[in-house]
Parts: sequence; C-alpha cells; structure tokens
Amino acid sequence: MLILCFISPFRVVKKNRERKQKEKQEKKVDGTKTTKVVDRKHLHNFRVVQRNLVYVLGLPSLASSSEVLRKPEYFGQYGKITKIVVHNNPNLSHNTVSAYVTFSYKEDALAAIQALDGIWIEGHPLRASFGTTKYCNNFIRHVPCQNPDCVYLHELGDEDDRFTKEEIQVSSCFILVP
Ligand SMILES: [Zn+2]
Repeated sequence: MLILCFISPFRVVKKNRERKQKEKQEKKVDGTKTTKVVDRKHLHNFRVVQRNLVYVLGLPSLASSSEVLRKPEYFGQYGKITKIVVHNNPNLSHNTVSAYVTFSYKEDALAAIQALDGIWIEGHPLRASFGTTKYCNNFIRHVPCQNPDCVYLHELGDEDDRFTKEEIQVSSCFILVP
C-alpha cells in the first residue's frame, strides 16, 4: 500500500525550523552532541517527503492521461518528468482526477507546486503538494529487497524529510491500494 499525503512546502519549512530550535535547546541542556543510533523498527511510523514528487488533486478529467499531462502546456513546462501516474477518484462527486508527477529535479517539483497550488480550473480548486512514501519492510528488517519494482525507500534519506504518522494529518492523506 502506497500512502501519499499533502505536505505543503510552507509546513515543511515551519516544521524543520521548530525541530532545529528544539535540537538547539537540547544541546544546550546536556552540552554534548549525542550520537544518533537509528533503530529501523521505528521507521514503520515514518512517512518521508519525496521532494521530486508532486501530488496534484482537482485536475479536470479531460486532462486525465499521462501523455496529456506530460505536455509543455501542462506539467512539462516545469521541467523533465520521469513518471506520471493518474488516479481517478471514484469517491469524488465532481469530475476531477488526481496525479502523481515525478520530476527529475526537486527544484522543478517545487516550482510546479508553487505555480499550481490554489489555482482554480473549471470551477474546482487545484491542490498541489509534495508526495510522501514509506520505508520498505525489507529495509526495516535489514533484509535485501528482492522486488525490482519496489517503490518504497531502501535508504534513510534526509531526516528533515521524515514525518511521523501523527505529524501528518490523517484527513489529508490519500491511501492507494496498488
Ligand atoms: Zn523494497
């Protein structure tokens, strides 16, 4: 199961600032730098922001194919795209779809989010945000992953991109069953 959530770039910045302040305060208290030992079992609880992945909700269903969305008039204008996955949202009454757009470069993904989040298309607001993913169970168990198509994470990545499930509001998450 792949879980992708709304994380606004602004929220990420705020969170990182708060965390850095907290770390500063902790260092002041004990006066020493603590060595971080990562227990991978706890990684089950984390979701990791993919800064090259844009999740877009509210696209008109006419632009529902990845071929269309790849064009320069659409997401192509923001940079090189490596992958687009379009999802129809049967639960939504209005005629829109969501899409996951993977860019080659993080800067292009950010530019797309900043340009698109909050604009209105055909009477519906467009929401654009970074997508998140989770750690591969094999990685957590210290076992090599045998699935060449595995979409989950096999490396720790940047700690600043890691969020607990509690930190991500459940109401704004979209749970996809492959
Ligand atoms: Zn894996």
